Amino acid sequence: DHVANQIAAGEVIERPASVVKELVENSIDAGATRIEVEFRNGGTSLMRIEDNGGGMSHDDALLALERHATSKIQKVKDLDGLTTMGFRGEALPSIASVSRFQLQTREEGAEGGTEVLIDGGKMIHVRDCGMPQGTRMTISKLFNTVPARRKFLKSKTTESAHIVQCVRLYALAHPEIGFSLLDDGRSLFQSPANSSLKSRIAEVFGKQIANNLIEVDASEDGLRMRGFIGKPSLSRSSRHEMLFFVNNRPVENKTLSYALVESYYGHIPKGRYPVAFLFLDLDPQRVDVNVHPAKREIRFREEAKTRGFAVRTLLEALRGESE
Ligand code: ADP
Ligand code: MG
Repeated sequence: DHVANQIAAGEVIERPASVVKELVENSIDAGATRIEVEFRNGGTSLMRIEDNGGGMSHDDALLALERHATSKIQKVKDLDGLTTMGFRGEALPSIASVSRFQLQTREEGAEGGTEVLIDGGKMIHVRDCGMPQGTRMTISKLFNTVPARRKFLKSKTTESAHIVQCVRLYALAHPEIGFSLLDDGRSLFQSPANSSLKSRIAEVFGKQIANNLIEVDASEDGLRMRGFIGKPSLSRSSRHEMLFFVNNRPVENKTLSYALVESYYGHIPKGRYPVAFLFLDLDPQRVDVNVHPAKREIRFREEAKTRGFAVRTLLEALRGESE
């Protein structure tokens, strides 16, 4: 049902970067060890996400394009303490309803691949294709048939920046996976599989940042915080390099960002922001996900405790640095 897909697309697919987010998450779920993302024109003329993961059979490829055809929830209770990233089974049909969508995939061990082409929700063809093991999704003409959506897109520069930020986040969360990102045919970064977090940061954010970091690793009462924060001399004019991951998923969370900014108070000038790549690990039951399905906001059940732990850990790391 085309209308339901378009409505769902409104919820899930706000902008080109939302497509990249959904497809990169699928590639990670598919066990890829290499993911390549290419886009043109802020993602509006082309996005290609290609992986070497498990791929799909002919039947699975068709099924994947039906609403709620997720292969990822076994039981409803899996929704608590969820570990795979996708669970709604509506990303692919939503994307295909508002773009020209080509899916090419070849399942592990299969003799050949399958190609499905959908334009604005209308099936154009399904046929065999040559394909290495894995999945390639090519999206063009995003929102061409949905002028109301297209109108809300920002400039090419802004939409590109959202895509870049999105791929950076997943690249940091998964240094075990090789990532490459191309904008209009130009490589923005390339990082091999099985990188250390530090070298991944260097490849994705540049050496200037990677060479000015303080390592963080502390645990307390089932909470662990690890990663890197910038030396105070590395302060930035924007918050774009304050990155947080909870149980290895990129998140937006005020408790953590306030704790970070507060810890740097007095260390960096007013109006400047620290750099941080911080990973908090804890029992998933202590986190409320799903504040909004397509967003990354999360809340901690024990807000004060989490905040206290974060501030103590960060102050300690900064103190160690200035001694
Ligand atoms: P969800 O991720 O919530 O299950 P999606 O619409 O994103 O829903 O994907 C539907 C299904 O298509 C997935 O459950 C998975 O079985 C299959 N799929 C999607 N992307 C890939 C991929 N890159 N590799 C292998 N299978 C995929
Ligand atoms: Mg998904």
